[in-house]
Amino acid sequence: MKPTRESQIREAISLIWRNLPDGCSTFGPCPNGCKKLGRGTGPCLECAESELAKLTSRDIAKRYVMAVKEARRIEGEMMDEP
Ligand SMILES: [Zn+2]
Repeated sequence: MKPTRESQIREAISLIWRNLPDGCSTFGPCPNGCKKLGRGTGPCLECAESELAKLTSRDIAKRYVMAVKEARRIEGEMMDEP
């Protein structure tokens, strides 16, 4: 069965979160040959963002990545001792 647009968007979203881990992780060459590094040698953040941009828009994809980065920063602040 052909993946739906929604399932492709969800896949791109999960790749974005995966590439912005909340702790230590290992990164390896992106399998798309873009010369960047992806978490666990999966697709990299840039490839995930451009996939999401194709499915939605460049603006939405960029805003989403910024929002996930911000969420991770906030998570880090939560873990800091008050
Ligand atoms: Zn890549």
